[in-house]
Amino acid sequence: MTTSALERFLRYVAINTRSDDASTSCPSTPGQLTLLRLLVNELTSLGLTDVSMDEHGYVMGTIPSTTHKLHVPVMGFIAHVDTSPEMQGHDVHPIVHRGYDGRDLVLPDDPAAVLRAADDAALAAYIGHDIVTASGHTLLGADDKAGVAEIMAAAEYLMAHSEIPHGAIRVAFTPDEEIGRVATHFDVGRFGAVCAYTMDGGGAGELEWESFSADAMTVTFKGFNTHPGYAKGRMVNAIKLASEFVSRLPQDRLSPETTDGYDGYVHPYVVEASVDRTSVRLLIRDFSTAGLEEKETFVEQLARAVVGAHAGSGLEIRIAESYRNMREILEGYQDVVECAREAIRRSGLTVVERPIRGGTDGSRLSFMGLPTPNLFAGEHNFHSRLEWVSVQEMDKAVETIVNLCRVWEERTAES
Ligand SMILES: [Zn+2]
Repeated sequence: MTTSALERFLRYVAINTRSDDASTSCPSTPGQLTLLRLLVNELTSLGLTDVSMDEHGYVMGTIPSTTHKLHVPVMGFIAHVDTSPEMQGHDVHPIVHRGYDGRDLVLPDDPAAVLRAADDAALAAYIGHDIVTASGHTLLGADDKAGVAEIMAAAEYLMAHSEIPHGAIRVAFTPDEEIGRVATHFDVGRFGAVCAYTMDGGGAGELEWESFSADAMTVTFKGFNTHPGYAKGRMVNAIKLASEFVSRLPQDRLSPETTDGYDGYVHPYVVEASVDRTSVRLLIRDFSTAGLEEKETFVEQLARAVVGAHAGSGLEIRIAESYRNMREILEGYQDVVECAREAIRRSGLTVVERPIRGGTDGSRLSFMGLPTPNLFAGEHNFHSRLEWVSVQEMDKAVETIVNLCRVWEERTAES
């Protein structure tokens, strides 16, 4: 099926929507509002109902029901309009490489930016596809404008094909996902769906419904500072305590450098140091809450052992919840996951399920009462100048959305 996803995608990536975590406004940057307003106009001209933008810039709309069945649950699709603050987001010049033949794709603005099938297994599998890249200086913004374009193209298709039976479908476009703020202002009540799917994943067929559980831990070592010339027997250097603690963390396991699959880690990533007080901030990751607690206990015992060996030192530990594995919720909503599997298969694809070693919007939305797995959008090389999408894969994502709407309707009893 050929859709309007490409044409829309090219239009959306031209708008700079890079988010900014130093900003306290929502959306964090004005470019996001430009795209969100454009989406309001496009949804309205496609004929969706209840199209609106709230004070935080969240855009929502409804594809009205076409079925005679009265009790098809309302479900929805979500994508984010912002792009990563880590990368330049202005002057994105997308290039469509028609009929990719497997040769190197050299991005013209930077001859060092080359996509090679030899180092990119996903790309090697897409010979014959039309591949879209940026021009070498910027990211492309497929994360997540591919998802935005696919939801819009699916909305257009469904509005033009009222013979396809489906219930009411909600769509939402959100700002500031890349700085972790989507769930903060997402109004689940206003969205009014029983479940949703984020369109923000990788290659065709991917379905994600398990994520890390995550906490942020701050371990603060308290020392005693005094003039170093007269410190004998009195000074306790918190920097030395902290460095002893960090050096005692396991090197060969429990760290991002040495784990994958279902293994979690403890990861020191920021140190704020002075003699009087040194804080080590750590990311704690696991797929279960029990595993998370085990790691936190381990870190705390290590810190206590260090402090215990140095008279006059002290310790302060703070733990803040970041997000939880959405599987804890989605296990109770297996029909939501199963409908997605069926829609993927019906689009002629193989279902690929993998745990996410990170979080997604669904990791928080699921706990806010909106069970939300993540579906493939065709994003490759996220947050990179070598980001790319395949046009045919975007069309497959559109087809999967349309099939998912059908499957929901079919699985609802006549009433
Ligand atoms: Zn994304």
